[in-house]
Amino acid sequence: TPKLTIDGLRATIEGKEILKGLNLEIKGGEVHAIMGPNGTGKSTLASTLMGHPKYEVTEGSVTLNGEDVLEMAVDERARAGLFLAMQYPSEITGVTNADFLRSAINARRGEGNEISLIKFIRQMEAKMKELEMNPEFMHRYLNEGFSGGEKKRNEILQMLMLEPGIVILDEIDSGLDIDALRIVATGVNAMRSPERGFLIITHYQRLLNYITPDFVHVMMQGRIVKSGGPELAERLENEGYDWVKEELGIVD
Ligand code: ADP
Ligand code: MG
Ligand code: MG
Repeated sequence: TPKLTIDGLRATIEGKEILKGLNLEIKGGEVHAIMGPNGTGKSTLASTLMGHPKYEVTEGSVTLNGEDVLEMAVDERARAGLFLAMQYPSEITGVTNADFLRSAINARRGEGNEISLIKFIRQMEAKMKELEMNPEFMHRYLNEGFSGGEKKRNEILQMLMLEPGIVILDEIDSGLDIDALRIVATGVNAMRSPERGFLIITHYQRLLNYITPDFVHVMMQGRIVKSGGPELAERLENEGYDWVKEELGIVD
């Protein structure tokens, strides 16, 4: 079962330090939620874990099953089983959704173990049905002209098809109406297993009504400052973040 360990992680963007010594361990079977005010570094954490070139790690370590993630190229991280659904998925003209997914799956499965075309299409059709996606999305260019909600569903489709060991969802709930939110949550819940750990980054508690986390972490100023169970998310929803700042003596 997978284990992602983040230890004392510091990262900068354009010379500005955003992550300031972040610690977190995610094991298979666990769902962790990170909540925090805007601009606190949540998306920076997700992008840094996936190896986005804009972010420079200056200190600390990230390991997946004991292997140094920070030494891996972006595609190696994906092959090792890390998956990121982004807050703002990018559009790729000229590559269809099906082509993109098939090469991603085959990269993960490795040479000589490629998925057959028939099996791939059957799986993709079945998963798209689960997500109540229009079959035409299979042949559309990746994310091009997709609405916000369609992009999010498409990210979840990728997750369902790739079967990653560690899933990072960055504000997957933003821009989703309640029906789309329910469909996305059902997809995530169906993927919960001892073989898979989740990091769910969210600004709002709403998503956590549908996906019950095992652990809730509060992130402020580039670090996790408080951890608890689902009740912590509820308190944040009701009372905001000020009480956390007061309790910990954090000054903006
Ligand atoms: P969150 O996801 O918690 O809202 P982000 O990780 O997106 O926060 O941003 C954290 C901080 O990094 C913010 O202060 C933001 O302004 C800064 N930041 C993000 N992207 C850039 C960039 N390209 N250049 C400079 N600063 C950035
Ligand atoms: Mg933000
Ligand atoms: Mg963000």
